[in-house]
Amino acid sequence: MELELKPLCLPSDNERPFIIAGPCSAESEEQVMTTAKQLSDKGCHMFRAGIWKPRTKPGGFEGNGETALPWMQQVKQETGMLTATEVATPEHVELALKYGIDILWVGARTSANPFAMQALADSLKGVDVPVFVKNPVNPDLELWIGALERINGAGIKRLGAIHRGFSSFDKKIYRNLPMWQIPIELKRRIPNLPIVNDPSHIGGRRDLIAPLCQQAMDLGMDGLIVESHCNPDEAWSDAKQQVTPDILDYILSILVIREKMQTTENISQLRKQIDEVDDAFIELLAKRMRISREIGQYKKEHGMTILQTSRYSEILDKRGAQGSLCGIDPDCIKKIFEAIHEESVNQQMEIINK
Ligand code: PEP
Ligand code: MN
Repeated sequence: MELELKPLCLPSDNERPFIIAGPCSAESEEQVMTTAKQLSDKGCHMFRAGIWKPRTKPGGFEGNGETALPWMQQVKQETGMLTATEVATPEHVELALKYGIDILWVGARTSANPFAMQALADSLKGVDVPVFVKNPVNPDLELWIGALERINGAGIKRLGAIHRGFSSFDKKIYRNLPMWQIPIELKRRIPNLPIVNDPSHIGGRRDLIAPLCQQAMDLGMDGLIVESHCNPDEAWSDAKQQVTPDILDYILSILVIREKMQTTENISQLRKQIDEVDDAFIELLAKRMRISREIGQYKKEHGMTILQTSRYSEILDKRGAQGSLCGIDPDCIKKIFEAIHEESVNQQMEIINK
């Protein structure tokens, strides 16, 4: 399904990416107002805060619900910032709209559930509000696109995606693995869909926010949604990943924004060179396959098996080491040679079974 999109038309400064900032949760009127004023003083135009919080386990802070919505109204009145919150059910949508929330987002646990997405989409029919859909917790691009299609199908044209990383059992550096190839592929599939990066939920740690913001910008993402709290250590949810408005301002001030479009002749020259190398590469591969087919013929005539495991291991080890010497990750070389070997085996099978 082709998405029918309109520009989001949300405020942004020219020198900075599109920023939505605010606490993980709206905890109290004072916390919301203090954080909002500090962010607004730093030039932020869009304020986020969770009103309903999807907690992994019961017993955590699940949000103040409707009680917190007037605080968001007050943010808008006193600072002029637009307000954004997460909706997970049609009831959330109704309440958020009733209190004039300007931007809605759908969380990662909800976008993983097509029933919940359809219910949300139905509740948004006839409404014109920008909606962002976070990637589902599992690394499934089709599920993410499906969630976006459902919302778009309800007539929401001001649509965006939020990349917040993917759950994994094996947590190392990141709270949620970024798996950048997934948002990159989303951009390739739907080029005019804005993608916002959420370094807070990917990193799960304050010190990872700056490098993740930079990486997102280097990969051409359109904006950032960052958790910022007036007193992060005391936050009622996601304390480890929140930064003060001051720190956020500093992080944003050191971001290097590179040109998305090619600005010099240089890059097209370099791309031409890449194309030439790729041509040569494919010709060499074809030559390798021709030799491989000859070997297949030999194996057939001498009653040998196709798979000669010791030769295969020798190739993987030798080429991995060679790659290393040339500054290429041996695992990458291994993957390439595994794919080449697989195709060689297929071609030899054809010959042997002729
Ligand atoms: C959030 O934005 O605070 C949140 C709960 O995010 P996610 O849905 O990405 O976990
Ligand atoms: Mn959070």
